[in-house]
Amino acid sequence: MAENKDLEKIVSWAKRRGYIMPGSEIYGGIGGIYDLGPYGVALKNNIKKLWWKTFVEDRDDVVGLESAILMNRKVWQASGHEAGFTDELVECKKCHQRFKADDVAEGKCPSGGAHELTEPKAFNAMFETYIGVVKDEDAKTYLRPETAQGMFTDFKQVLETSRKKLPVGIAQIGKCFRNEINTKDYLFRVREFEIAEIEYFVKPGDDEKSFDEWLKRWEEFVLSCGIKKENLQNYEHPKEGLAHYSKGTTDLQYNFPFGFKELAGVANRTDFDLKSHEEASGKDLKYFDEEAKEKYWPYVIEPTLGVERLLLAVICDAFEELESRTETTEAVTEKEIVLHLDPKLAPVKVAVFPLVKKISKEAREVYEDLKKCWPAEFDESGSIGRRYRRQDEIGTPFCVTFDFDSLEDQKVTVRDRDTMKQERVEIKELKNYLFEKLNII
Ligand code: ATP
Repeated sequence: MAENKDLEKIVSWAKRRGYIMPGSEIYGGIGGIYDLGPYGVALKNNIKKLWWKTFVEDRDDVVGLESAILMNRKVWQASGHEAGFTDELVECKKCHQRFKADDVAEGKCPSGGAHELTEPKAFNAMFETYIGVVKDEDAKTYLRPETAQGMFTDFKQVLETSRKKLPVGIAQIGKCFRNEINTKDYLFRVREFEIAEIEYFVKPGDDEKSFDEWLKRWEEFVLSCGIKKENLQNYEHPKEGLAHYSKGTTDLQYNFPFGFKELAGVANRTDFDLKSHEEASGKDLKYFDEEAKEKYWPYVIEPTLGVERLLLAVICDAFEELESRTETTEAVTEKEIVLHLDPKLAPVKVAVFPLVKKISKEAREVYEDLKKCWPAEFDESGSIGRRYRRQDEIGTPFCVTFDFDSLEDQKVTVRDRDTMKQERVEIKELKNYLFEKLNII
């Protein structure tokens, strides 16, 4: 990863440009919680839209679902989360800081070598809450830490109503909550985030082939978000470190500014979940295979990805800090930031500038027309160079300048963010011209 992509620069740019900011900041913030500003939410929505189109709309074998964040507590008992969704917590006896046991070297406090740590203690990462007015054990449940359980509890109904046969996937994007011990890596490890995942139900025996297939599809999707292949790698979990439900898990890791870390993953969950829910609920969750005339619990392949982690990876991959490259009439000394986002994900697709305010009215007409098709911005303040820079920083792929010649020849100048090449294009051809280049979702 290029030197200039250090996290601090990205954090300060993201806040300055309305992408990502600390949550409740006027009260000093809150650990591991971030808000997305106007451009941040637009980029995230575009990522989710692309995901939904790729995996739900474009496929015949996957259907969508939105299950509730709050579920009956029995779900979390049957799934094993209440007993086992834990991290090992250690505390420094001297400075009282708390750490995830996995993150600290044998017996040493990260903030001072001589400090002694307590024995690891299990800490459940689910947020507890109560339903209704009485706050007792009967009313207790949790904010979901993953979306998968909704796909298992609704499996039978979704299959029946969609009239699908195996293999079939149920896809969902939704909020999840984890009371993480350590949240130092910005959006990478937060306490409230979205997961986009599919539970793909297959006949036992077809699971390994399906696993390999999904691993490929998952990588293709991440690449389609504009991420460079050299920044991705697979990590296969050793058998002894697997989650209790898993027969095999491979992570898709991204080269974040703090190293290669899990961005997404594919797990073979076997028939663990449907079996556990059948046992606990007493409801038959088996599938009747008409062809084979037999009933069984399907195996489940689970491709999963953290939307915030992908958002961060997309930003890290697109972020570039350059020596000044755009001329301005003002004395601009600071470096320039260009966000080379894939056009289909860019929050703003095109910006329109009148060369001077005197011709704003005519330029605005061009803008109003483009705005009917794409998110667009109109900017008439500062030099043209300044305006280019502002758009480069938020990742707008094209800028259109309306000048005095435009009044005569009905042409405008279109400037490309990455190549900085400029082309004169007829106003009546502008939409077609942009449509071809924007590759919209
Ligand atoms: P990690 O080992 O990094 O804690 P995990 O293996 O617990 O992650 P999963 O339970 O597989 O993660 O969650 C599915 C996806 O959700 C992950 O691939 C990751 O992209 C995302 N994710 C998990 N925890 C967080 C978090 N605290 N903040 C942001 N995204 C997360």
